[in-house]
Amino acid sequence: MRILVVEDEKKLAASLKRGLEADGFAVDVALDGTDGLWRAREQSYDAIVLDIMLPGMNGYKVCETLRDEGNWTPILMLTAKDGELDETEALDTGADDFLRKPFSHLVLVARLRALMRRGATERPVELRADDLLVDPNQRRCWRDGTEIELTAREFSVLEYMAHNAGTVVSKQEILDHVWDYDFEGDPNIIEVYVRHLRKKIDEPFGRSSIQTARGAGYRLNKDGR
Ligand code: CA
Repeated sequence: MRILVVEDEKKLAASLKRGLEADGFAVDVALDGTDGLWRAREQSYDAIVLDIMLPGMNGYKVCETLRDEGNWTPILMLTAKDGELDETEALDTGADDFLRKPFSHLVLVARLRALMRRGATERPVELRADDLLVDPNQRRCWRDGTEIELTAREFSVLEYMAHNAGTVVSKQEILDHVWDYDFEGDPNIIEVYVRHLRKKIDEPFGRSSIQTARGAGYRLNKDGR
């Protein structure tokens, strides 16, 4: 059983690693959110222990990003003090459980074992805009029942717009969600992807569901038309 611990407090991270290894788990540690996300994408873990307040990228964002990408590895979030709000938000962003700091090692292990028994529970969220159907888990897309072939990046751009259907998303927001965090290219690259998407999901069907909001970004119409 392999566990990823994402925790920036070095002492706590080290003691978690020691304790979990003593219990027979293989443990990788990431000391910030960006590295945590990278590891979670690169490796297949049986569970992730994820702190909330992290440098680089906070735990909510790491969790949300993984779920958006269809990664359903069980996540146990470490919440602070009397953070009831933290806990609601943890679950909202797709964490499976949370544990309030400070916690006992025994409780941590019991919770992790319970999560791992349950395994990765896929919670498929099909995104719909009328007859446009986007399935983030299978990473497939249909219009009026006809499957549309998209490249991985086109799919990610459409998925992000579909998550936010009805509202305008800026090029920068799309970039931040779809490209690597260290991407420093031109946000206008988004225009290219939008053009491709229109050719695939709109034009052949006589639709114009991707609207340009001048100077602001793009909006996928909720009614998909
Ligand atoms: Ca922290």
